Amino acid sequence: MKRSVFLRSLALAFGSAALVAACGGETPAPDDAAAGGETGSGEVLRVATEPAFPPFESQGPDGDLVGFDIDLMRAIGEEAGREIQFESLPFDGIIPALQAGTVDAAISGMTITEERAQTVDFSRPYIKAGLAIAVPADNTDITSIGDLENKKIAVQIGTTGASQAAEIPGTEISTFDSAPLALQELANGNVDAVINDAPVTLDAIESGNIEGLKVVGELLTEEFYGIALPKNSDTVAIVNDALTTLMENGTYAEIYQKWFGTEPPELPESAL
Ligand code: GLN
Repeated sequence: MKRSVFLRSLALAFGSAALVAACGGETPAPDDAAAGGETGSGEVLRVATEPAFPPFESQGPDGDLVGFDIDLMRAIGEEAGREIQFESLPFDGIIPALQAGTVDAAISGMTITEERAQTVDFSRPYIKAGLAIAVPADNTDITSIGDLENKKIAVQIGTTGASQAAEIPGTEISTFDSAPLALQELANGNVDAVINDAPVTLDAIESGNIEGLKVVGELLTEEFYGIALPKNSDTVAIVNDALTTLMENGTYAEIYQKWFGTEPPELPESAL
């Protein structure tokens, strides 16, 4: 089947040569262990992240945080003169933590949505993404969202992928704490499909972290990630100013190159 140009260009934008299953590698065991702070000058900025979402955030072999979001947030901290202290939280605990004021910001591949914007503020968009359907590599029945009716779908709890799956009639939905766990459920043959952020699913396939899967059809959505902050926090302007500087001085493009091997696409100044 012919892959959509949109999906292919996104795949290329994220440095993924193959959409079809790769081999080798182990499924990473998602670990909610707290992930230490940073050293630096200035007031501490406590930043929540759910580190099971590569290439945006994950834990390296020593438990250290790595990923595009991690590098970007560190650069923002440096630019703004704030010491970044990451705190690992489950994805669905991030907005409650921002509301409770136990963290000052969150960077976690979080899509800017109208609904979330009612309870938290977002920085300007820093990544363009979208949802993709993953199926077993040998599946030929499912080629678009219309084919998911009455199917078993695995999703990550509290995500845009979970909301999208909930709208499809007749589905049996299993929710998981992390995207890799949902993808592994599919690889294990227990569900028919996963709806998840395309860059993360493509990375899992291409890296060999999850075996025997492919992405099909067009992207279901166009989404933009933002850094989330408590509603009306003074930090919104600080983060936005730093992000704008990094986008203008080439640092953002450098970090993007490092993780995606290509120039960043144009981003809108607002996603809502
Ligand atoms: N972008 C998706 C969302 O915001 C998934 C985020 C994630 O799992 N880290 O819902």
